[in-house]
Amino acid sequence: MASQAEIEHPKKAFGWAARDPSGLLSPFNFSRSETGEKDVAFKVLYCGICHSDLHMVKNEWGFSTYPLVPGHELVGVVIEVGSKVEKFKVGDKVGVGCLVDSCRTCQNCSENLENYCPQYTLTYGAKHRDGTITYGGYSDSMVAEEHFCIALRYFALDKPGLHVGVVGLGGLGHMAVKFAKAFGAKVTVISTSPNKKKEAIQHLGADSFLISRDQDQMQAAMGTLDGVETLTIAEVGFWVFIVAPDARLAPVLGWACFITIAFSSFLLPFLLNTFGWAARDTLGLLSPFNFSIRKTGEKDVRFKVLYCGICDSDLHMVKNEWAFCTYPVVPGHEIVGVVTEVGNQVEKFKVGDKVGVGGMVDSCRSCQNCDDNLEIYCPKYTFTFGAKHKDGTTTYGGFSDSMVADEHFVVRIPDGLPLDAAAPLLCAGITVYSPLRYFALDKPGIHVGVVGLAGLGHMAVKFAKAFGAKVTVITNKYFTQQKEGSNTKSWS
Ligand SMILES: [Zn+2]
Ligand SMILES: [Zn+2]
Ligand SMILES: [Zn+2]
Ligand SMILES: [Zn+2]
Repeated sequence: MASQAEIEHPKKAFGWAARDPSGLLSPFNFSRSETGEKDVAFKVLYCGICHSDLHMVKNEWGFSTYPLVPGHELVGVVIEVGSKVEKFKVGDKVGVGCLVDSCRTCQNCSENLENYCPQYTLTYGAKHRDGTITYGGYSDSMVAEEHFCIALRYFALDKPGLHVGVVGLGGLGHMAVKFAKAFGAKVTVISTSPNKKKEAIQHLGADSFLISRDQDQMQAAMGTLDGVETLTIAEVGFWVFIVAPDARLAPVLGWACFITIAFSSFLLPFLLNTFGWAARDTLGLLSPFNFSIRKTGEKDVRFKVLYCGICDSDLHMVKNEWAFCTYPVVPGHEIVGVVTEVGNQVEKFKVGDKVGVGGMVDSCRSCQNCDDNLEIYCPKYTFTFGAKHKDGTTTYGGFSDSMVADEHFVVRIPDGLPLDAAAPLLCAGITVYSPLRYFALDKPGIHVGVVGLAGLGHMAVKFAKAFGAKVTVITNKYFTQQKEGSNTKSWS
């Protein structure tokens, strides 16, 4: 099933998106709009990585929405232009920076100062006028109005004869020195670290170098500068500067920013007490995911997950191939681990016990099937992941670091059984064990045929042999026969 991002516009696009504050990028299918009358469509060839991208993918400024395709230093080659485009033609090299739209009617917009427009639109993580999300340059294509397909200059510092100060020699500082020198200006680099001097003067061609902690040196120099490129002092300062040219607002935004960062860095991980790997869409790719699980209730067992099998159902579910999956989904239903906490009414387990959970974590507990210990036939059974607990919260599976489950749905793993080998018993194992028992094939003297030698088949052969039965494997793959030849012989 295609996501909204894939179908909201007519042109298919591919990019790399962060899905949550881990900031990890994974493949992302989405769509770009039709090339409008004044639009330029281009193939993205290169995209810079700016520090803002790194903050944004981790939501460190508190206004990121996911999925987020970063990148606001895009260059590429024009592949299509709208009928009213004047400055570009197919084949032109083109670039887009951090803006793709603005109100176009305010005073700032009419003075070509669109980034001071109160309604400017960031290249990614913002909303187009039609309400769809803007996606940045970590992608294969871009469509933008030609008005924003140019490099804008904000300061009249690009003239020979001026003396420009550049504060800091990070990503922006390097650029500022190179530009200012190319414009013919005299350049002084101001930095806190003396060891940047050689780089500034010899490598980048700056004319002089100041240590910002040296008060006297700074006092003497400031009067000689025509302008100081201060954007690198701090990203937060940079954004406050852009968002709030009105200085009275700056401290308010600064505090809002600080509180947001504190919340996302310290409080959120505390509330989201569990870490797992989740699929976010039908691509089925797993990426890191922080979530919360309930406190250990009276009858609950909490355990640290040590191993989890990969069942074919997990692969179907993460891609929503059975069409009832809700994202994000943390798969895994062959889960084993060691008990870390038990509720005060738990009878069968204590801390340190080895335990497992299979495909279900709850059922109605009152129907005939539940009374007969056949919970799997309960019409209201709760699947281990991608389902809802009775309290309405989502169930998350074993591709995670910890789990809480009612002891009724927790099984003991005997001490002699290796935990990694025990995990697949909890779905693949029980799936073949159950019919062998139900159809009374669990005894010597019986001759059992096992069709296919994949995950379930392996289990079936091992169980049937352990029951003392004679076993014949039936397969359509010569390869399997060869590969498993010696084992098959000893089994049959
Ligand atoms: Zn940037
Ligand atoms: Zn405007
Ligand atoms: Zn399974
Ligand atoms: Zn029931």
